[in-house]
Amino acid sequence: MLTADQARHLGNARGSDLRDLMQQAAAVKRQYWGETVTYSRKVFVPLTNMCRDTCTYCTFVKHPSSPEAHIMTPSQVMQTARSGEKTGCKELLFSLGEKPELRYEHAKSALAALGYDTMIGYLADVCEMVLQETTLLPHVNAGTLSDDEIDQLRPYAASMGMMLETTSKRLMKKGQPHYGCPDKSPLQRLRTLERAGQKKVPFTTGLLIGIGETWGERIEALEAINASHARYGHIQEVIIQNFQRKPGISMENSPEPSLTDMLRTLAVARLILSPDISLQAPPNLNERHIEYLNAGINDWGGISPVTIDFINPQHRWPVIEELAKSTQLAGQNLEERLTVYPSYLTEKTEFINPDVLSKSQGLWEKIGTSTARHIGGVL
Ligand code: SF4
Repeated sequence: MLTADQARHLGNARGSDLRDLMQQAAAVKRQYWGETVTYSRKVFVPLTNMCRDTCTYCTFVKHPSSPEAHIMTPSQVMQTARSGEKTGCKELLFSLGEKPELRYEHAKSALAALGYDTMIGYLADVCEMVLQETTLLPHVNAGTLSDDEIDQLRPYAASMGMMLETTSKRLMKKGQPHYGCPDKSPLQRLRTLERAGQKKVPFTTGLLIGIGETWGERIEALEAINASHARYGHIQEVIIQNFQRKPGISMENSPEPSLTDMLRTLAVARLILSPDISLQAPPNLNERHIEYLNAGINDWGGISPVTIDFINPQHRWPVIEELAKSTQLAGQNLEERLTVYPSYLTEKTEFINPDVLSKSQGLWEKIGTSTARHIGGVL
C-alpha cells in the first residue's frame, strides 16, 4: 500500500517504475478479489438532461431552449425498464442533471406538469415504481444531495452514486471547466460523500481525470474518498474515468489522458484505497482497456445490452460475451454482479432498506445459482 506522500512522487512513473507499481497494484487486487473481474448488466435511464451546471466537458446536458431537452415521463421510464428486463438486466441506473428547476423556468414548469416541485421528489417516485413494478434494482446518480434528499431516495434505491471528480477548487475559477457550476464545489461533493456515509448508503464515486487537475490533486481526491470510507464503510466502488474529447464541447481540443497516465492513476488508486473498495474503469473509453487489468482493477462497471452510454454517446459498450473472452485471455474471469456489492447483502445489511435488501438477495441468489453468472448470459 502507498502513503499519500509516496504517491505524490509517482506522477511521472514510467518504464520499469510504472511496471513495478502496476505489479504491486495487481497483487493487491488478486489478494482481495481473486481472479474475478465483475460488471453490472444494466439499463440506463437519463431522467432529465437539463442541469443547472455547465461543465465544459459535458455533452449530456441540454439547455432548456434546445428541442432535445427533456424530462422522461413515467411511461417512458417503464418502457425503457421493460427493455432492460427483456435483455437480462438486473440494474436500472437513473442519471440526471443537477437541480435544473432551481435555474430554469422551463424545467420548473415541465416538472410541475408531472405534478412535482423538485426533480428529486420525482426521482424518488419513479424509483419506487421501478422497485415495485419491475425485476430491476434502481441505482441513482443524482449528483450532490442534502440529508433530506438522501432520505427521500434511500427507501427505493439499492445504491447511489456521485463522481467526486476532483477536489480542485482551482477548476471552479473563470476559464476552468467547473466555472459557474455550484454543484461542482469540492466542498459540496465531499459533504454528499459524508452524508451518504452517515445515512448508510452503499455509494459509488470516482475521479474524472484529464480535466486540468494536477497529479497532487488526484492523490488528494483519492485520500479524501478513502478517509470517508474509513469513517463509514460505505464506498463500495471508485471509478477512474478518463476525459474524452467530443465535438461541440468547449474542451473539444483539450488533450485526453494517455493510456500511461490512466494505468499510473489506476495503480496508485488501488494502492491508496482500502482493498475492499472495488476499483472500476470503463471499458468503452479506451480501445486498449484490457491493459487496465494489469493495473489492479477488478470491475468494468455498468454495461448495457440495450441502451447507449448517454454521457459518452460516441463510445459503444463492448459486447458482453466479447469482453468475457478478452478478460479470459488476460487470465481472469468475467462475472456478473448487482449494483450493490455482496458485502452489503451479507454483512453490512443495515445499509439497505429491508424491501430492497430482500429483492437484492433474491437476485444475487439467482445470479449465483445460474451458469449465466459467467459470461453475462441472460437469466
Ligand atoms: S453536473 Fe453533470 S450533467 Fe450537469 S453539466 Fe456537469 S457533467 Fe453535465
